[in-house]
Amino acid sequence: MNDIELFLADEEATMALGRRLAKALPNGLVAFLYGDLGAGKTTFARAFLQALGVGERVKSPTYSLVEGYEIGERQAFHLDLYRIADPGELEWLGLDSLAEPGAIVLVEWPERGAGALPPVDMALSFRHEKSGRAVRLAPKSPLGERVVASLAAGPSRQL
Ligand code: ADP
Ligand code: MG
Repeated sequence: MNDIELFLADEEATMALGRRLAKALPNGLVAFLYGDLGAGKTTFARAFLQALGVGERVKSPTYSLVEGYEIGERQAFHLDLYRIADPGELEWLGLDSLAEPGAIVLVEWPERGAGALPPVDMALSFRHEKSGRAVRLAPKSPLGERVVASLAAGPSRQL
């Protein structure tokens, strides 16, 4: 399975990708969200979590580092590690539940948590492109392959 690259012309397109990925989701998924400040990571994560059924407002975890959500029986976590200088700083956060099977985990700035995060299923790399954004979706596990393949197969396909 190859990577897929998508052009996201405006904010709505970033949100639509988040919603589409939420619909294509099996039980759990660990997704790493790469990209500079303003590249669209939080916009994507917010639409994704809302489409999964998070009722409350999805805050950016810029200061809290991690926000957790209960969605029915599922647990979702949204991390932003921008302010982390050393992955060792993550120990006190008690991130063990991130590695539980079935957990849905989105991590902004995952490179700052190297070694302290569960194994990644899928990497999404956002970048500025003209007045919009581009994103590259790269599967990193068999589960990630299934998710990327279902996205490549079109909006109506589900896993
Ligand atoms: P990050 O979390 O990567 O720092 P944000 O999601 O906070 O970035 O997005 C920063 C800004 O980019 C927001 O104002 C958002 O509306 C805008 N944005 C998101 N996606 C797009 C897009 N595809 N085209 C243009 N602007 C976008
Ligand atoms: Mg952000």
